[in-house]
Amino acid sequence: MTETETQTQTQTETDADADGGTDTDTALDTTIYYDDDADREYIDDKTVAVLGYGSQGHAHAQNLADSGIDVIVGLYEGSSSRDAARADGLRVETPATAADEADIVSVLVPDTVQPDVFEKIQDGLDAGDTLQFAHGFNIHYNQIQPPADVDVTMVAPKAPGHLVRRNYEAGEGTPGLVAVYQNTTGTARKEAVAYAHAIGCTRAGAIETTFREETETDLFGEQAVLCGGATALVKQGYETLVDAGYSPEMAYFECLNELKLIVDLMYEGGLSEMWNSVSDTAEYGGLTRGNQVIDESVREEMESILEGVQDGSFAREWISENQANRPSYTQLKAAEEAHEIEAVGEPLRDLFAWSDSGGANEENEVVSEPEAAADD
Ligand code: NAD
Ligand code: MG
Repeated sequence: MTETETQTQTQTETDADADGGTDTDTALDTTIYYDDDADREYIDDKTVAVLGYGSQGHAHAQNLADSGIDVIVGLYEGSSSRDAARADGLRVETPATAADEADIVSVLVPDTVQPDVFEKIQDGLDAGDTLQFAHGFNIHYNQIQPPADVDVTMVAPKAPGHLVRRNYEAGEGTPGLVAVYQNTTGTARKEAVAYAHAIGCTRAGAIETTFREETETDLFGEQAVLCGGATALVKQGYETLVDAGYSPEMAYFECLNELKLIVDLMYEGGLSEMWNSVSDTAEYGGLTRGNQVIDESVREEMESILEGVQDGSFAREWISENQANRPSYTQLKAAEEAHEIEAVGEPLRDLFAWSDSGGANEENEVVSEPEAAADD
């Protein structure tokens, strides 16, 4: 990213702070919007085009419609999602027509195809319309350059779409993020918070952020800790045990299956709940050996990964990878699928699906309930 582009973004995001929010009393001085902070008059009379009917698209579209908002789903002719959207009672048009008729255009197609879709819809953006995202990548890395006279916002639920939908139907909320990149109307933030209300996010809390912060923390997190870091840790642990002669099944349970139990405890009550729930031996062993595995050199690598996110080099790499039809991606994906832990895990997961309360395979859980009960 060039110096000028960085400055433009900082400038726009500072301007965007104009219409304020509710400061909560948290130590981190974070603004979180709840239902009471939302003013639905900023969305109730508007038409929203939801482009894409995948994970986020189907949830946003149905939640908005159930909240009484006029929704048009934008899908290209021949898209297999068209029937699904119609079956859910929604009106379907091409992305261009939907965007043309709408006041708010919610861009929920995959990040890699958003620049192409934007080319097709940009003529339908009138002055004062809103271009809205659920992830900041294309705006932050300048892959989409929105017209100067539209608002640009983000409402990003922090959960996959099926949970956003399920929680809404259950009367519950899904935490989310709200950001304003460009605020030409002066009401961009109020409209984004109203949208967050209409899809159920303010029931749980919508945290104020910026496109830059959301994009960079999201990419760093998925690379270093969540998707990349966690799988690498699991594979290294598994290989260490198997190479030392232990059974692959034991290594699978110890290094992959049990990770969920530990993560669930951290999710529920932080690190202390996890440490308090495991044995003193596990606690002492973990406290003394953890930093030996994830040591200073790992920290340095993490800093280098963060640098690649911040200076745009990861983004450039991923964009060229897509332009070249994903050669490395395809190869790496195949290698990951061929890892021994995958072949070892599959039959074990089927075997033990019943014992995994809240586990991955709900259908198995239900089917196998009598067996579980018989064991008691
Ligand atoms: P997805 O892959 O589930 O669905 C995208 C939909 O877009 C498809 O179902 C299809 O209807 C349409 N589509 C696919 N290819 C297309 C093409 N070539 N041209 C036009 N339309 C096409 O996408 P998603 O995971 O819902 O992601 C949408 C946005 O939401 C992204 O910006 C993503 O970063 C963001 N997001 C996703 C999640 C999540 O958990 N999935 C969470 C937060 C934010
Ligand atoms: Mg329009």
